[in-house]
Amino acid sequence: LDVIGGVEPRVADAIRAELADQRESLKLIASENYASPAVLLAMGNWLSDKYAEGTVGRRFYAGCRNVDTVEALAAEHAREVFGAAHAYVQPHSGIDANLVAFWAVLSQRVESPALHKAGVRHVNDLTEADWATLRRELGDQRMLGMSLDAGGHLTHGFRPNISGKMFDQRSYGTDPATGLVDYDALRASAREFRPLIIIAGYSAYPRLVNFRIMREIADEVGATLMVDMAHFAGLVAGKVLTGDFDPVPHAQIVTTTTHKSLRGPRGGMVLCDSELAEHVDRGCPMVLGGPLPHVMAAKAVALAEARQPGFRDYAQRIVDNAQALAEGLLKRGARLVTGGTDNHLVLLDVSGYGLTGRQAEAALLDSGIVTNRNSIPQDPNGAWYTSGIRIGTPALTTRGLGGAEMDEIAELIDTVLAATAPGSGADGKPSKAKYTLDPAVAQRVAGRASEL
Ligand code: PLP
Repeated sequence: LDVIGGVEPRVADAIRAELADQRESLKLIASENYASPAVLLAMGNWLSDKYAEGTVGRRFYAGCRNVDTVEALAAEHAREVFGAAHAYVQPHSGIDANLVAFWAVLSQRVESPALHKAGVRHVNDLTEADWATLRRELGDQRMLGMSLDAGGHLTHGFRPNISGKMFDQRSYGTDPATGLVDYDALRASAREFRPLIIIAGYSAYPRLVNFRIMREIADEVGATLMVDMAHFAGLVAGKVLTGDFDPVPHAQIVTTTTHKSLRGPRGGMVLCDSELAEHVDRGCPMVLGGPLPHVMAAKAVALAEARQPGFRDYAQRIVDNAQALAEGLLKRGARLVTGGTDNHLVLLDVSGYGLTGRQAEAALLDSGIVTNRNSIPQDPNGAWYTSGIRIGTPALTTRGLGGAEMDEIAELIDTVLAATAPGSGADGKPSKAKYTLDPAVAQRVAGRASEL
């Protein structure tokens, strides 16, 4: 930091302040974690200075032997950890991994034998007229994904994201009575909509998804099953999610981020069956430019960590902690979407405290508890203010906190929310953003948060 400070002291100060923030507050954002020093160090080095477009052994630049080594290692560890036929470790982020996967599925269909007969050899050879024909033949590229308020992700075909422009999207939701994925409704929707891709995976669903059933539905309608396991990849790597709940044996293509429960560097990855491998490997140049060799090195280190026996214990403790937190909240009268959790996150409906998600998020932050607001199913407050708080345990589990601390954190969260009241705007009307929080409560909770 002194070296950085000698060039731009404000950056060094921001890095120091970030470390202090992360030490003093309780990091309960479900998509965050603490990467190990080995992972962080693998990212901060000279590999960052190298260009390496292409794939291992087939680069468009000279001098890539060391990048080849780290990329091959990351892919090998990924195949081993997840039992996948093929791994592509270049995507810079989860959104990039999803874009690579969409184009891979599309180009696989384009290059199907039927289209070969029509004279199309390779996706790169397509003219505008070919694309128009293909759009018709591919059913205008339809995608069936989980709705945002049920816990789906923007990249699963929603308007503000490029996926919503590439695909004609239809959503599946959850059963309003139980909050669980309704597979019968999903099947009926797939039969009618006939999507090219059915996408499973989520950012804010606190239960397990049965990927065997999802694959059955996909096969029935001729769709490709893609699973975005960004949130729960650590639970798959740690063998907490197995059988029907492990996406890798069931889906043709699986994408993930590497920085959430998997505890690696900020980045993405694609796993797929051998038929899709060649298409996935065209991620660069189709969607990506030069890979980030330093981040691929850090992925290799993180995946090597995930192969160690201790990672299974870590993954199990993530779920145990989420369940302890859920129990702690329930026994204090809180309402949780689906009534609990089977994974790493809890979705707390804060309307019972008379608050919006935005008010609750801000009051908790004032008290040293970092969460994020999140829509709940059929949310009356929309995606900006929301009625929920998403709380996740991967980061605090890394720090070694356990069941007793989770119960205490549930107490702290309940105390803060009970001491928060909705405020009003300058016009005197009720506001969805303003709030008042008893400062003594905020101070006491923040003090305890920093001790924990
Ligand atoms: N997919 C899911 C399910 C996610 O939750 C996220 C991030 O929150 C992403 C994709 C996007 O990942 P990134 O932020 O690395 O682009």
